[in-house]
Amino acid sequence: MTTFHQATEVIRVGRTVSSDLTPPVHTSAVFEQSDTTAARRAATTPRAARFYSRYSNPTIDQFESAIADLEGAEAARAYASGMGAVSGVLMALCSAGDHVVAQRQLYSGTLVLLAMLEERFGLAVTYVDGTDPDEWDAAIEPGRTVLCVAETPANPQLAIVDLERFGAIKGPVTLVDSTFATPALQRPLDFGVDLVLHSATKGIGGHNDCSVGVVAGSEELINWLWGFAILHGANASPYDAAAALRGVRTLDVRLERQCATAGALSAWLEDHPAVATVSYPGLVSHPQHELAGRQMRLPGSLVSFDLDGGLDAGVRFSEALTLARIATSLGGPETLVAHPASTTHAGLTPAELKAAGISDGTLRISFGLEHPEDLRADFAQALDAVATVH
Ligand SMILES: *Cc1c(COP(=O)(O)O)cnc(C)c1O
Repeated sequence: MTTFHQATEVIRVGRTVSSDLTPPVHTSAVFEQSDTTAARRAATTPRAARFYSRYSNPTIDQFESAIADLEGAEAARAYASGMGAVSGVLMALCSAGDHVVAQRQLYSGTLVLLAMLEERFGLAVTYVDGTDPDEWDAAIEPGRTVLCVAETPANPQLAIVDLERFGAIKGPVTLVDSTFATPALQRPLDFGVDLVLHSATKGIGGHNDCSVGVVAGSEELINWLWGFAILHGANASPYDAAAALRGVRTLDVRLERQCATAGALSAWLEDHPAVATVSYPGLVSHPQHELAGRQMRLPGSLVSFDLDGGLDAGVRFSEALTLARIATSLGGPETLVAHPASTTHAGLTPAELKAAGISDGTLRISFGLEHPEDLRADFAQALDAVATVH
């Protein structure tokens, strides 16, 4: 359906018939109806426009339509955050006693939510190694499994799920969290996947100034999700939807720069004596380099690597950086460094860290938009600072 290059599509999508080049922010939470017949129709039609903003809002509609077009989907639903979208999908599709197959390498919030739904709401979850298509197939219980949840590239080591094999799963609904890729780098629905999900807080918004989630898929599935979403109440704010749509306009150029920098710096890191291992799907050394090349347009803006010297080296490196900033999240203009063992995962035992694919010295970098030579110089001096104490 896409007749233009992606760089052109991101400029064209999400426009309604109007002369506004940027979407006006529709702040009205309520819309007046011409008569009671119109009011009844609006109240009973899925995703009816201009009724009540928790149901639908013109600014949010424009963002949803942009994402649906970029993903090759019939429809999309925006949420207040990525976790609003994750919880919205899980609670709309699953009931007590249902079975879900989920990848072990998932965003931590999704894993915690799944554990809670198991414990308190009677969901049954089987966890698989997402990189092994046979594990997915073996874990599915025909007639009982309602949903398969994948993330690719996945937290934290950038493991890749084979979208062609995952999309071929029949029976349960298949969901891919495609946050790390954004619609600019991969389109899971092209491989037969049912639903694609993004934390648009990250690369789609792209400026760390909005909190938005979005799910795209068939009209039938999105209507079903909508039916729960209006009760769930995690609807996106029109201000944030406008910011996210502004992010869409520059998605392609931002991702190209970020991927080029990630590619150059990951190769440089791999050759550096203080670095033990580097994980980046664009490197030949990544175990799924070829698969990434088959299903992704570019290998992404995230790189993870392990320093010799463990916890101490990870802390020293993070704190020695002057250009890259210590912060969670990804996909924005600033290059960010995360050292899970001393921050987000500080409470875990070494065994638990290992199970999560993290070692004491693992660092995750989200490459931003700074000049790659300036970043390389910053990384070089920070690695020197680590080396001087060992
Ligand atoms: C951040 C993130 C989420 C959650 O998104 P929020 O907008 O922070 O709620 C979900 N999945 C992935 C892969 C993420 O990186």
